[in-house]
Amino acid sequence: MKKDILKQFHKGFPSNPEARVRALKITLEKEGLIDQKALDEIIDTYQNKVGPLNGAKIVAKAWTDKNFKAELIGNTDYVLKNMGLNGRQGEHVVVVENTEAIHNLVVCTLCSCYPWPLLGLPPNWYKSDAYRSRAVRQPRTVLNDFNVKLSSSKKVKVWDSTSEVRYLVLPQQPESSKGLSENELVNWVTRDSMIGTGFPKSPKGK
Ligand code: FE
Repeated sequence: MKKDILKQFHKGFPSNPEARVRALKITLEKEGLIDQKALDEIIDTYQNKVGPLNGAKIVAKAWTDKNFKAELIGNTDYVLKNMGLNGRQGEHVVVVENTEAIHNLVVCTLCSCYPWPLLGLPPNWYKSDAYRSRAVRQPRTVLNDFNVKLSSSKKVKVWDSTSEVRYLVLPQQPESSKGLSENELVNWVTRDSMIGTGFPKSPKGK
């Protein structure tokens, strides 16, 4: 059966990536190797039900609870498992903390690996060739495009996700949000701030 699939594609593989994916999907469906209903359920869960809110809750908790933050960074998988936030595409997560000296940026140069249980499905730009290639070669230019302005003394660290390791950026807490409750802070944490392509923002300015 596998040979048949390969033969079909060797005959004429569409050059456009979207057409390729569609062709591959139709073939896999025809062979009974994937089920559209199951795929729809997975997409619906991570697109509409999970979203970046789980990640935002963790960040807000880390900002307000030093012990939790230390455990989150030191023992990430254990903490996430206890919170029920492991599972598909989040089996092994590493939390990287932004500091005065370091800004972290996450990419998947190979495809689009991303911590689904924490951030939902990746945005389209995260999957784009441009982001994937430029984030490593010219991280400061990419950050500039996202309007993330950093002082030249700040070091940028780029983390390349794989199917084994996903990264979550723990952004710095904005000074103006200090003293707010954990629940209020959740609304300050943006999806992009947890990828490294943005900063947390006051919900009033969103
Ligand atoms: Fe990937």
